[in-house]
Amino acid sequence: MSTLTILRRHAQNPDPASLPPSVLLDYTDSYLTIFDAYPKATFHLLVLPRPKDGSLTLSELSGLRSLLSCQKKDAKKILDELAAQAEKTKELVREEMVQRYGYSWDIWVGFHAVPSMEHIHLHVISSDLCSPKLKNKKHYNSFHPKLGFFLHLEEVLSWFEEEPKYFATKKRLKPSEYEPLLKESLVCWRCDRILPNMPTLKNHLQEEWDKEAKRAAEKKRKRESGPGQADSFAGNAKKQHVEGVEEI
Ligand SMILES: [Zn+2]
Ligand SMILES: [Zn+2]
Repeated sequence: MSTLTILRRHAQNPDPASLPPSVLLDYTDSYLTIFDAYPKATFHLLVLPRPKDGSLTLSELSGLRSLLSCQKKDAKKILDELAAQAEKTKELVREEMVQRYGYSWDIWVGFHAVPSMEHIHLHVISSDLCSPKLKNKKHYNSFHPKLGFFLHLEEVLSWFEEEPKYFATKKRLKPSEYEPLLKESLVCWRCDRILPNMPTLKNHLQEEWDKEAKRAAEKKRKRESGPGQADSFAGNAKKQHVEGVEEI
């Protein structure tokens, strides 16, 4: 079966609980969250709406563009529900980050302006972009958070608040306007440095992420190094006190 339609098949699955745990993270009657089969970062999930009777059709749900050309209020409802589901997913990812790495870092939520797979899916991806599956310029640029191909959910939602004319222009999502972005130079999204090729970019991203881990460890150490911190909340101070007692 075509890999392009696999998301649609997952979305249509009447019994998501039957999906293996390597595929499924979470689901409700309306949504399911699955692991991206080719993760482009340490954490990379997809939130998909499940088609329901009396709601939007499969073809209306085939992508962001088809969704945005539905009745505005219907499209907004789906996006708001996707946003709520993505929040839950982010929370699960954060917990997992803390458990595995001892700290949490940014998680982006958004769509590709021109999707490569059938069925609308919201990417929930950690900002490290460190993954063996991130192999080429197209992969990287499609998730670069400032380039424009990756449309943050917040941005898409903001279009609904704009003048109808602006919304009408945005919702077209013309591939010819977005696809050239994938060919742009490789630029580190954190420090804007231009990298000549994928191996150097990947090394650089790893270094940036290592630095972030170090900063987080440093912050944690400072936080735990006793009371008197200007930024420590009462609860935190109390907790430190209790831990202090336990340590003695
Ligand atoms: Zn995608
Ligand atoms: Zn950098």
